[in-house]
Amino acid sequence: MRISDILRVKGGQVVTVNPDATTERLLGVLAEHRIGAAVVSRDGVVVDGIVSERDVVRALAARGATVLTEPVSAIATTQVRTVTPDSRLEDVERLMTERRFRHVPVVVDGVLRGVVSIGDVVKNRIDELETERSELAGYITGER
Ligand code: AMP
Repeated sequence: MRISDILRVKGGQVVTVNPDATTERLLGVLAEHRIGAAVVSRDGVVVDGIVSERDVVRALAARGATVLTEPVSAIATTQVRTVTPDSRLEDVERLMTERRFRHVPVVVDGVLRGVVSIGDVVKNRIDELETERSELAGYITGER
């Protein structure tokens, strides 16, 4: 399975936030879209960073509520790991597990094309296992 298979189902829409937006604004965006991270981008095309609820929690714990009025660029990660639609799902799973992040932007020739979350990965794994289980059950009972 490739990342393109996931994007075909979930679509390529990505919630982005401007690096100059405040952390308070970011929290509004995350809550509104019910997501855990946003891609930081000035133009919605180029990935300038990624910022997740974990970054907010860490910054709040370290510096307190002042963080809320600071720009998102102050807490975002700028060295972003990205994948392409051709990337294999299992490689992305490994990347997420080893690097301990739950979101990976999908980029083609410098253009943002989607985002894959750990939720998408788990959903796909469950679907795969369910298909395999029912095929095996059919094989055992002779229905296939
Ligand atoms: P997450 O588990 O995705 O909420 O993110 C955990 C930490 O990793 C946060 O500091 C994020 O800014 C960072 N992070 C999330 N996704 C990526 C990524 N694709 N590349 C680099 N850092 C990331």
